[in-house]
Amino acid sequence: MSFSAVIVAAGASTRAGSGPPKPWRMLAGRPVLRWSVEALLGAGADEIVVVVAADRVEAASEALGDLPRWRAVAGGATRAGSVQAGLAALKAGEAQPVLVHDAARPLVTLAHVEALLAALEGAEGAIPALPVADTLKRGESLVAATVSREGLWRAQTPQAFRLGPLKAAYAAWPASEEPTDDAAVMERAGGRVALAAGDPRLMKLTYPEDFAMAEALAGQARIVRIGQGLDAHRWGPGEAVWLCGVEIAHDRTLIGHSDADAGLHALTDAVLGAIGAGDIGEHFPPSDPQWKGASSDRFLIHAVELAAARGARILSVDVTLVCEQPKIRPHREAMRARLAELLRLPVDRVSVKATTTEGMGFTGRGEGLFAQAVVSVETPA
Ligand code: MG
Repeated sequence: MSFSAVIVAAGASTRAGSGPPKPWRMLAGRPVLRWSVEALLGAGADEIVVVVAADRVEAASEALGDLPRWRAVAGGATRAGSVQAGLAALKAGEAQPVLVHDAARPLVTLAHVEALLAALEGAEGAIPALPVADTLKRGESLVAATVSREGLWRAQTPQAFRLGPLKAAYAAWPASEEPTDDAAVMERAGGRVALAAGDPRLMKLTYPEDFAMAEALAGQARIVRIGQGLDAHRWGPGEAVWLCGVEIAHDRTLIGHSDADAGLHALTDAVLGAIGAGDIGEHFPPSDPQWKGASSDRFLIHAVELAAARGARILSVDVTLVCEQPKIRPHREAMRARLAELLRLPVDRVSVKATTTEGMGFTGRGEGLFAQAVVSVETPA
């Protein structure tokens, strides 16, 4: 499912009270803008252009700097101008589906993206829309009329189009008018816009009180997933052994194609498992000569980058090494520190433990070392 995205975050947020503009406020622990970027990355976006006010390009780097496949461009004076600046910055081809999204709707999910891209198959545009449930009145201080809500919808974002036709529709839009969404531009150009299922969670943060509502809904936009990894390597002649990214002097070493760091291998497999991305053998085949003697740091870094690319963040890891020798305890803090560095986590989210099997089994007989890792990650729902 290949698509590009433009996220508009250049508005002044005049109705949302004092403080920084909405995209830069915190929602459940992360900037509002970051929610959409992580969710669209998690849904598989090829590239995301974030359109920000000219003085916020640096703020975007602070909020998103560790995420892949995004870049920021300065917006125009109006929303339409900002959308066009974003579209112009996309590298995709004319036929590429593009989602145009308001940063002020942070709780977008994979299911929304899938529904929109499916609906785009049969139309020139697709939008998430909710039927109007309340009775509609027209008036000032007194009701002048009750308006039929028959056939009326509330349009949300993201809205899906194909890049070439959307650019053309904007080019044809009269400069004297300001569209309130992108579908209106496509409609004016004669394009058919499909109604896909909207979602109350796609609510727009408009007023200060909306933040409390969004905080309550935010828990549903992310889920926690668990991964586990197991690894074993055989002991052989040597003078030192690598475990959890730390070299320990020892009278034997672990035998393997790479540096045989079973702790890092188990942990890498656990990260891959938590995001459903296969296993270490698939990403780094032992048959491939480029991994011969490789430092296993690289395997874990690759898995961590893969997780970030899917909008996932690692919450905690727990590694258990099973061996009679060497003694792990004297090296445990060094291992935790090294893993924390590789995982970009605070040390208190990283656990390294060790146990023996009291002389039983292959670890007890000193034939090999066994490692197990469990990882929890938070990913877009
Ligand atoms: Mg291994």
